[in-house]
Amino acid sequence: MAVPIRTDYCGKGISRPLLGARAGTHGNGSRGIVIGMPLREKKLIKQIRRSARGGQSVVTGIGDDCAVLRVPPGHELLVTTDFTIEKVHFRRDWHRPELVGRRCLTRGLSDIAAMGGEPRAAFLSLAVAGDVPQKWVDRFLKGLLDLAEEFKVPLAGGDTAQSAGGIQADIVVVGSVPKGKAVLRSGAKAGEQIYVTGELGGSAAALARLAESKPVGAEYFRHFRPLARVAVGQRLRQRGMASAMIDLSDGLSTDLEHICKESHVGAEIEAEAIPRAQVGLGKKRVALELALHGGDDYELLFTSAAAVPSSVAGVRVTRIGRTTQSAGIRLIEADGKQRPIEAGGWEHFRGNL
Ligand SMILES: [Mg+2]
Repeated sequence: MAVPIRTDYCGKGISRPLLGARAGTHGNGSRGIVIGMPLREKKLIKQIRRSARGGQSVVTGIGDDCAVLRVPPGHELLVTTDFTIEKVHFRRDWHRPELVGRRCLTRGLSDIAAMGGEPRAAFLSLAVAGDVPQKWVDRFLKGLLDLAEEFKVPLAGGDTAQSAGGIQADIVVVGSVPKGKAVLRSGAKAGEQIYVTGELGGSAAALARLAESKPVGAEYFRHFRPLARVAVGQRLRQRGMASAMIDLSDGLSTDLEHICKESHVGAEIEAEAIPRAQVGLGKKRVALELALHGGDDYELLFTSAAAVPSSVAGVRVTRIGRTTQSAGIRLIEADGKQRPIEAGGWEHFRGNL
């Protein structure tokens, strides 16, 4: 029998602030703060409500003190939370608001994908400074809700507040996975093969161009249309093909180190095997350093003792190396020479944007 649970972390439903009324007492005690946004468009509210009703897992969504979620029988809950902060994760002059909303939810969905889970509901807490145009907020929500619809993940609650400056969004995604079947970072053993989905470095290549004030268009689609690999993660889990898994949010070197540390193994990566994104109008392969250390690609990195097909759920899968007993991560160059690689060794774009 399905067991309804009450979520402790979603707080108030977002209906009241989004209806354009006063946002309550956030940040200013008993006096209350008027959130600096005019009345929301009815269309947007309808869209949010429709999204909130869209999932079988949500017993009660927006409009009550807590969301009530239904967990499928024999499943465990997955919960992930991710910040999206202006000037850290995005810049308003670089990124359209729809994209910021889309990336915000993608970060959470990608974490659920990395566990082999199914996303069930999302919760958004959004703090916006009074001088942020209403239109920006509407477009941000549209990007987020369009993606929520694509993945059939209802927005089941959240909160809004006025921030002291800029925009901060926190997305919580709740998912589920059959009991005991979540794919952890700690499951890799020495002598297994290491795989990645898709191509790497495409998102960092776009940021590199933006930082140089060069034009960046839709051809940098992994940056502007990020896509969480939810179906791939589930398929790998169902077929028992991934012993350990993580999503590539911080970059291959950093995220591989997470698997190595949690699994107590080392790794050898073949430089020539890494699938580097081809970007720009000329479809040029990105620099190896971008593929190694650039983040925000939202591909999956996993280890497997089994042979994995070159395509899983319609997504390209590439073997890039193997796990070892000796600790540390080594890169094998095309000429056979080896060099150690440090996690996050490429720091240029790691500061604030
Ligand atoms: Mg992650």
